[in-house]
Amino acid sequence: MVAEILAVGTELLIGQITNTNAQYLSKRLNDVGVSVYYHSVVGDNPVRLKESLKTALSRADIVISTGGMGPTQDDLTKETVAETMGLKLVLHPEIYQDIKAFFERVNRKMMDSNAKQAYIPENSIIVPNNNGTAPGCIIEKDGKIVILLPGPPKEMIPMFEETVFPYFEKMTGQTIGSKMLKVFGVGESEMEMKIIDLIKAQSNPTIAPYVNMGEVVVRVTARCRDANEAESMICPVIDKIRERLGTDLYSINGETMEEVVVRLIIEKNISISVAESCTGGMLAAKLVNVPGVSKVFEKGFITYSNSAKIDMLGVSPDTLETYGAVSRETAIEMVNCLIKKTGTRAGISITGMAGPNNMTDPVPCSTALSHIPDKPAGLVYIAVYLDGKTECIELKLNGDRERVRHVACLNALNLLRKMMI
Ligand code: ATP
Ligand code: MG
Repeated sequence: MVAEILAVGTELLIGQITNTNAQYLSKRLNDVGVSVYYHSVVGDNPVRLKESLKTALSRADIVISTGGMGPTQDDLTKETVAETMGLKLVLHPEIYQDIKAFFERVNRKMMDSNAKQAYIPENSIIVPNNNGTAPGCIIEKDGKIVILLPGPPKEMIPMFEETVFPYFEKMTGQTIGSKMLKVFGVGESEMEMKIIDLIKAQSNPTIAPYVNMGEVVVRVTARCRDANEAESMICPVIDKIRERLGTDLYSINGETMEEVVVRLIIEKNISISVAESCTGGMLAAKLVNVPGVSKVFEKGFITYSNSAKIDMLGVSPDTLETYGAVSRETAIEMVNCLIKKTGTRAGISITGMAGPNNMTDPVPCSTALSHIPDKPAGLVYIAVYLDGKTECIELKLNGDRERVRHVACLNALNLLRKMMI
């Protein structure tokens, strides 16, 4: 299998940015047993892009392009590639809904140009994008494969790792083995610092860290003869990484945080209940996504308004008035009230500002709370109770509502995980 990487963007040609995408993709394609013979770069020009694509297709089985997938006039990759390959662009209703929801979440008006991103070449495989609006795609036609990915590395890398890399893994079969390590509690750069010498020293297996939706993921890939050999090559590397990262490394099989936490609470037979404000049921939804949770999950309260916190949980109006709904005091009282009501061994409460605007705390009895300053968007308090002990953390998260709520849930589950182990 021979691939060519086609980077699209005038910025690259005029030296404004460096083609780090080509470097990254070459390295990872080599890891997965795909040879790269050419890198090419073309500006945002449909005629020259068409020519470059034709040339690439004449000498490679696989062409991977990055860039030009955005909503603006100069983003032409998808349209030009579809035309060159004789494919229609078809509206993908699910992607349209995702993009629409994204704009609703961040309180911005969706333009027609954004809707354009929901059009995908017919019969192609979608490459989801968790970190931006433009999805990518894999086109298989006439024995060739063309893969379109966006330009920003923060979007391109997770998309490649989560969808394209496994796609090639399946295709090239026996020759490689890889494991997805999940890390929570350290940032990307801090984690990289801790394992940089390992990353640099390894050529087989290779270690590739990246960030996706608030979590650090490390993929360890071995080129090998079979699954057994892969296991014996990868395990010592994982041991070394674990030595450096300790319990922040929470899974070596790509499990989600909720899968790991639910496995632990079932193992320990710990009953659990939750009380959610800004996450509005997302935490409960994550828990119930995991099979088997019914053995341990007792109940969840969505106490979004102050009156719900008072009526459903029994939080004191005084606490809400004195400290505000988004405060350490309220989070702790929420979880303590929750445990009183449910009697479970574990409980989680979340209260925060999902954003996008900074806000004064909502007021319980419509009395203005001039003594409470505005709370910034992304400020979240989480309290976790386990067998008589309560811990509370404060988070300052960035991103849109969806991301803030998602990362808040991950932090809540992670705190419970750490208290259990
Ligand atoms: P957007 O939606 O941001 O417009 P896009 O897919 O249209 O994404 P481009 O407009 O081509 O991508 O590039 C956007 C940004 O992505 C660039 O300004 C640059 O920061 C980064 N980028 C693009 N191509 C590359 C590349 N080959 N290597 C590294 N970074 C790149
Ligand atoms: Mg663009």
